[in-house]
Amino acid sequence: MDTKNLHITDLFKNFAKVQQELLRDCHSEMWQGVNGRFDRLLAHWSFQTGSSVLRRALLDPYFPLGMLEQTVFADVDGMRFYINKRRLDLEPGLTEELKKWSEAFLRIRLDIQKLFDPETITCVPLDGKRHQLPTGQWCTLCGVCCQIGGVPPLPPAGVRYPDYWNTYLAGGAVNNQQLCPFLFQHFGEQRFFCAIHNIKPIACRQFGEEECHRRLAERGLHQYHVTHA
Ligand code: SF4
Ligand code: SF4
Repeated sequence: MDTKNLHITDLFKNFAKVQQELLRDCHSEMWQGVNGRFDRLLAHWSFQTGSSVLRRALLDPYFPLGMLEQTVFADVDGMRFYINKRRLDLEPGLTEELKKWSEAFLRIRLDIQKLFDPETITCVPLDGKRHQLPTGQWCTLCGVCCQIGGVPPLPPAGVRYPDYWNTYLAGGAVNNQQLCPFLFQHFGEQRFFCAIHNIKPIACRQFGEEECHRRLAERGLHQYHVTHA
């Protein structure tokens, strides 16, 4: 396949697909395919600088590749509009967004290690190892409720967030934020969890089963279309 002129959306999806398979299935023969696709993504003209940030973020087992596929890199079908994410004029914005997501992810990941207890901050220890995610609960960890522009960044009593977390939570990690940067993915599974679940903002703690049903029912009003490269 000639990948030299592929759009950033295709380069990202090509990589994300095999990287998630590798994380899920751990087949060593898949490494070569992942490396090749990752190198092609990093060779994109817009990543001449900053590729080390992308390398660290996108290869991390908690980076939400699957969620970026479903949002940033998915076509959007609104009631009176359609946005094709393979449009050439969108390419600079999408590459910038991927860089910013990577920076935000690494910053949050580092501060969880430095300022909080990564063993207990969320539903699984954030130690880079595979753990059993919670099962048998009403929340399926689909991550849809965290596809939002922002939440009021008010922490629970006794918790103080680093200042920039307030900005990220309120929707300032990227222009036109459509996904919370605290949403992590678990080793390529289509299951997503809040990286700060046990200290998440009050607004997120108040989101219960009823709100979940409402959110999932409203999904069709503004639909993302995930297509594979
Ligand atoms: S609360 Fe509902 S929408 Fe949110 S992750 Fe859980 S199942 Fe998905
Ligand atoms: S803080 Fe956690 S629960 Fe709240 S929107 Fe972000 S990822 Fe979702």
